[in-house]
Amino acid sequence: MTENSKKYRNADWLREKYWEEELNLKEIGDIVGVSGDTILRWMKKHDIDRRPTGGEVSPSRDEYIDALQRVADRLGRSPTLEEYKQVSRKDEPNVGAYKGLFDSWNTAKEAAGLSPCSSGPDGPSKEECVRALRKVANQLGKSPSQREYDNTISEGEISAANIKHQFSSWNAAKEAAGLEVVEKHGWTKSEVINSISRVSEQHDGQLSKRVYLKLKQPTDPSVDTIMRLFGSWNQALDSAGLLPQPSQYTEEECIEALQYVAEKIGRSPRIREYRRHRRPTDPVPWVMKNSFESWNDMKELADLYAYDDGSYLEFPYGSNWRNIAEQARERDNYKCRSCGLTSEEHTDIYDRDLEVHHLHKIMSFFEILPDKLKDDIRSEESLSESDRKAVERILDKANDLTNLVTVCKKCHSQLEPLPVEKQTELVDAALPEVHP
Ligand SMILES: [Zn+2]
Repeated sequence: MTENSKKYRNADWLREKYWEEELNLKEIGDIVGVSGDTILRWMKKHDIDRRPTGGEVSPSRDEYIDALQRVADRLGRSPTLEEYKQVSRKDEPNVGAYKGLFDSWNTAKEAAGLSPCSSGPDGPSKEECVRALRKVANQLGKSPSQREYDNTISEGEISAANIKHQFSSWNAAKEAAGLEVVEKHGWTKSEVINSISRVSEQHDGQLSKRVYLKLKQPTDPSVDTIMRLFGSWNQALDSAGLLPQPSQYTEEECIEALQYVAEKIGRSPRIREYRRHRRPTDPVPWVMKNSFESWNDMKELADLYAYDDGSYLEFPYGSNWRNIAEQARERDNYKCRSCGLTSEEHTDIYDRDLEVHHLHKIMSFFEILPDKLKDDIRSEESLSESDRKAVERILDKANDLTNLVTVCKKCHSQLEPLPVEKQTELVDAALPEVHP
């Protein structure tokens, strides 16, 4: 991504385009090649006011067009009046406002560069839907799925969504048309590519499986379906003309990925555990090993226990760690204690929640254990009841909320090497009430 295309994240630039040049969201998006929705998100993020629309203030033609285009983007097609009603947001003009601004709903859509509907503004009648469905079924020689239907009709004809809206479901419509009801739908590659392309337009940057899941419509294929059809996620991205997930990772990214899994499972991960728990966008183990001398070298850099050489004590964060981390985030109002980055922003940037940092390193709490027990933990021996209790007591202490602070990834790495007193100064926290 070029410098130019990230401009829309800058508050001043956005303000200038919107308030001084009076461009609408779609127009701003077009300059940098993102959707109007993306621009809207960043405007909100920067608390930039919008020109009044909807509610009691009637929107301008431009605002109405702007909203129509955004709704069309969200739907992936020219909306019917009903669809606009369903998909538009509270802060977007009321659907009825077109009456004061345009001759008709279709004129409004034409002004927005969208294809008009063939039927009246209240949508087609049930009879029209049934006729349309039967026509397509005849053409195809089978009872069509929604996608098959949409792929068969011409521009401006009643869409599958429209039909579905008139009946309680697609199958109900097919029943009314006397057609066979098919539960299962076989996806073709080109249908899947269409879905991937449309979803990717709503997102700038890598289309990870996670992002896809977040943005896809219920009618889009599942990740499983995509992987089954294409063999892999990357293969599917490649077929859709999108950049595959990067295969080259920086040291930092490898370390971060490893730490993520460690946090998730509550201990330093073995290779197979890492493979099982990594996020889809994280490097696979062999890629990581290429960047480092060995798996354990990498773990050392990630400040995690390396099982084989015995130079570190294993430090399970405990089975309750995720709960405890969440408590810390809640106490810190879901913001980085050092720079104020919010949970939402962190997820946007790093694709995961804010991190929770131990002021006194968790490892240091284990130092008081007898060597024999440290050895047992290290070799993953099963522990006696009393030893397990001892470990739990240590974890309770290390995971005391006063020893935890919520931080962003960047601030986390800055805190890591500092003495505790210095750390607490930076995050404006009291000294922890627990000590190793
Ligand atoms: Zn921070």
